[in-house]
Amino acid sequence: MADRDRANILGIHVDNVTYEEALRKMEGFIMDGRPHQVVTVNPEFIVTARKDPYFARILNDSHLALPDGQGLLWASLILGSPLRQRVTGVDAVIRMAALSEKKGYRMYLLGAAQGVAEAAGQELRRRYPGLEIVGTYAGSPAPQEEDYIADLILRAHPHILFVAYGAPQQEKWISRNLLRLGIPVAMGVGGAFDFISGQAKRAPSWVQRLGLEWLHRLSHEPWRWHRALALPKFAWLVFRTRFR
Ligand code: UDP
Repeated sequence: MADRDRANILGIHVDNVTYEEALRKMEGFIMDGRPHQVVTVNPEFIVTARKDPYFARILNDSHLALPDGQGLLWASLILGSPLRQRVTGVDAVIRMAALSEKKGYRMYLLGAAQGVAEAAGQELRRRYPGLEIVGTYAGSPAPQEEDYIADLILRAHPHILFVAYGAPQQEKWISRNLLRLGIPVAMGVGGAFDFISGQAKRAPSWVQRLGLEWLHRLSHEPWRWHRALALPKFAWLVFRTRFR
């Protein structure tokens, strides 16, 4: 798509969109009716994609790549094509729920631990009572479950599918199933259902503004330390690319 304003961060394209623009694009996908994949790129995605060409291809073939993660904004500045705003998966889900209530878009929540998608759905319905959530299901990204899950979703006929299997499994799951599902907006959302259901706590807004949400998450979920190693690696790769 030639008309996309995008930053190239270490070979991965990220759309330079605000929340309003991202929502407008997703609404455009619903109007269009054809299947579209939306990804929420953060530094960890980019580090993973360097070793996983299949994942890299999915990210670069996506119809919308949201700039999730403060590190991407820093990197985009250093690399000379600044992104304007951080657009997180969880906030995109919440804003999409508000829009869907108004417009009557049907939503399906797939993934997360048992009961979490259901609880996230209840919370979204509490906030937006008219929201039509046509299904929630935990399941797993295991290939042997795929046909069963695809059938459940097809029968529910949603406009929007959010998948929480963690990256890169959720993006691969969507990529494998997008055409047969024919859903206008299918997006991997990582821990969004955990946050919305209250299972996990988001960082206070001042911490988010400082760009330190990752540090907050690490302090609450220390078993993620090995994943946080992606951040210095990402910073190093960005500097190396800039000064080479
Ligand atoms: N998850 C899942 N099945 C899996 C792996 C992960 O349901 O096989 C869920 C997990 O419970 C969580 C979500 O995927 O709700 C996101 O996982 P993670 O926190 O690792 O992703 P991140 O938000 O860091 O991308």
